[in-house]
Amino acid sequence: MEEKEMKRALKERASREPEKYYPVGVLQEEGFVRKRCRVCGQHFWTRDPEREVCGEPECSGGYQFIGKEDNATEKMDFIEVWKRFSEMFDRMGYTPIKRYPTIARWNPTTEFTLASITDFQPYVVTGEVKPPANPLVVPQTCLRFNDVDNVGITGRHFTGFVMIGQHAFTPKDEYRQEDYFRDIYRWLTEGMGVKPEEIIFHEDAWAGGGNFGPSMEFFSRGLEIGNQVYMMHRREGEELKELNIKVLDMGMGQERPAWFTLGTETAYEAVFPPVVRKLKEITGLEGRSEVFSQFLPFSGLLNVDEIEDEEGMWRRVAGRMGVDVKLLKEEVAPRAAMYSVADHTRALLFALVDGGLPSNTGGGYNLRMIYRRAMDFIEAYGWDLDLGDVVQWHAEYLKPQYPEMLEGIDEVLEILEHERKKYYQMKEKTRRIIERLKGRRLTEEEMVELYDSHGITPQALLSSGVIERVPPDFFKRVAERHEGRGVSRVKTQKEVLYNLEGVSPTEILYYDDYSLIEFKGRIVWMEGEVVALDRTAFYPTSGGQMHDKGWMDDVEVVEVFRQGSVVLHRLRGRLKKGVGEVVDCRIDWDRRKQLAQHHTSTHIINGVARERFGNHIWQAGAEKTTEKARLDITHYESLSREDLEALERRANEVVEEAIPVESMLLPRDEAERRFGFRLYQGGAVPGEVLRVVKIGELDVEACGGTHLKNTSEAEIIKITGTKKIQDGVVRIEFVAGRRARELAQEEERVLSEVMGALGVGEVGETPSSAERLFKTWKRLRKLKGSAGALFRMEGEERGEMLRKIDKDLREIKEALKHYPGEGRVEIKDVKHWEGSRILHETAEVFSVQTSHLLKTVKRFIGESREMVEVIEKMLERAG
Ligand SMILES: [Zn+2]
Ligand SMILES: [Zn+2]
Repeated sequence: MEEKEMKRALKERASREPEKYYPVGVLQEEGFVRKRCRVCGQHFWTRDPEREVCGEPECSGGYQFIGKEDNATEKMDFIEVWKRFSEMFDRMGYTPIKRYPTIARWNPTTEFTLASITDFQPYVVTGEVKPPANPLVVPQTCLRFNDVDNVGITGRHFTGFVMIGQHAFTPKDEYRQEDYFRDIYRWLTEGMGVKPEEIIFHEDAWAGGGNFGPSMEFFSRGLEIGNQVYMMHRREGEELKELNIKVLDMGMGQERPAWFTLGTETAYEAVFPPVVRKLKEITGLEGRSEVFSQFLPFSGLLNVDEIEDEEGMWRRVAGRMGVDVKLLKEEVAPRAAMYSVADHTRALLFALVDGGLPSNTGGGYNLRMIYRRAMDFIEAYGWDLDLGDVVQWHAEYLKPQYPEMLEGIDEVLEILEHERKKYYQMKEKTRRIIERLKGRRLTEEEMVELYDSHGITPQALLSSGVIERVPPDFFKRVAERHEGRGVSRVKTQKEVLYNLEGVSPTEILYYDDYSLIEFKGRIVWMEGEVVALDRTAFYPTSGGQMHDKGWMDDVEVVEVFRQGSVVLHRLRGRLKKGVGEVVDCRIDWDRRKQLAQHHTSTHIINGVARERFGNHIWQAGAEKTTEKARLDITHYESLSREDLEALERRANEVVEEAIPVESMLLPRDEAERRFGFRLYQGGAVPGEVLRVVKIGELDVEACGGTHLKNTSEAEIIKITGTKKIQDGVVRIEFVAGRRARELAQEEERVLSEVMGALGVGEVGETPSSAERLFKTWKRLRKLKGSAGALFRMEGEERGEMLRKIDKDLREIKEALKHYPGEGRVEIKDVKHWEGSRILHETAEVFSVQTSHLLKTVKRFIGESREMVEVIEKMLERAG
């Protein structure tokens, strides 16, 4: 059975026994009566015994609150809503908490925070982890891209919005459904000041993430204001089982009370007043449009998502208004575009402040999509508008509720600037592709594909005449293609599964001390050469880190992996012992140490990259072997040599600062409270207890790897390369420990020999000396040409040239004397990364790799000397 059907079944069951599922007692106490909608059959509660229709705009005749003064006694704009709501609920015993990030790194089921309940999924809802407060209210920033085509048109849709959550997580006998309902009723009647006779409650049911519950939606004057869900079931096969704890999940868009109480034309005027004001000024859409105002009460009917025939709906709306459908669209479209620009920039602000990054994959794709949609509108209408400014206006308006928006604005602006460049590059490419498409008829599927693979927007296709209409749900289709996460994680589970029934979880010994390499373990399971012990210090491949190797009673351990919570060891040969007996284990220390050095260095590089580039830096992938390590980070551009040098220098400073690497096992709620969601660098991690690895103030991650005890044990970190592996993800390759030491020694040897060949005493002078050699070489080549030309010259001209060449040559010979051509200069008091930087800078003079530098320097010296001889001979002949 589909979730939808189970939800419907629950709703039907609840409607047969409403007193069992809904807060009927309070409703009756407040004078509400139960009715059934004449139009749609929905069960609802009202104080008006004469009322025949439910609260839905479709049944009750559209929005009836727009332009009205008497919707509610209280008037509040967006910011005022949370201020009053949180104060009121605080007084009623709820704790207002800070919002969670918009990018849901803690939640394995979703990339973006979709609702306030996302904050508490999955572990708080299942009862495994404690909530941060109980009961609580939260102003949660959310992102949803499936309604993007409705934004601007319906006057109420957003891609970025704030869901105010009212939540409680309690054992069954402490659950107070009637109280929760009374509290939200108080908010409606006292907080907002809505007349009770104008409030309609719908009996409904809700389903999400395998959880189910009856719910009460509340409406007034055709607008849904919120929905209070009483989550009580979880799905088990075809059945609904009761949850261990009961969860209150009331969600109300913070946008709704603002719009409703102010009765503005659209929600946007009430939600970001200063932004809309400025946009109207700039776009010239300030004046009242008679047609648009007439349209607004009907706009609620135009939900692209819910109607089958959009064109027909436009015609019907135009007919009811008595206007031409073409005129209607002309008046509505630019306004919808302006509101879309306002909404999309706010959604981008939410996402980018929280470390999101527009890209071609995963959720980053949706961020790029709304950026480009906004830019297309600006271009299409020729508005003199900078998205950076719009973002700034939003951040200023949101400051009282979210000061972090303004604090993070510089980084947001920088990311947007990069996005702007990519947008115009894309447009240029689009122009060329469209040229080729002219005369063809595109299917809708092809349009989606063109957008997907080349970023060509339907707007561009439309304006160049390649298509005649844009499918109304175009962007929704695009967004659906890109659900799920972008970057794949390193595989840690083996495909072959062993039958481990009855085997208890392995006790892990490698968390506390990576230098514990000798231990005893009892065999608890065995199949041929694969063995499980009751406890192990052998690290199984996971988190991108390769497994340990070693010995078990002198039989070699060649592979270690995890199956569920059991660690399995694959041996080369069979043990002489059997289940129940104890074996002596020893881990290959060199390998273990090198892996730990690489792993801790990965955390260091991640930390220093975030220090340098900002909050949008997240680990997108990592791999640590004995040979080398790599870290993929989310970043909008390739790294320059300067970036790499700075990262390497800072990473080695961290090594020199000898910062303790702390590792601890913490309950999830405590770990999140202390360290925030930065913890989830490697993605969401299961379990109620997290293993946290912390390096001073630099980095803190939930990580199960083997780590050094102090950063100084990494010895040296050397970055060996970088590349952009996909849009928005950059790879950094590096080595640490012995591998890095070897590399540093090799570099030092090359540098000392290059210095010897160039005759340089001070390390820092090497590049400029190389530069001079290169110039001399080029000058000699020219001189050789000039000397050749002598034979075609005569008289005074020739004499002058001869004297000039002679003078230049003497100068050059003098200079060439200073290059010994070989030798070695001892390098003292120079940091290895400094030496490395100088070596690379020197190699760049000749555009060669450092490994070819010495040979190249020698060749340039040799060739220069040869050229001197050749020129001298030519001069002799020329007399
Ligand atoms: Zn109805
Ligand atoms: Zn790690």
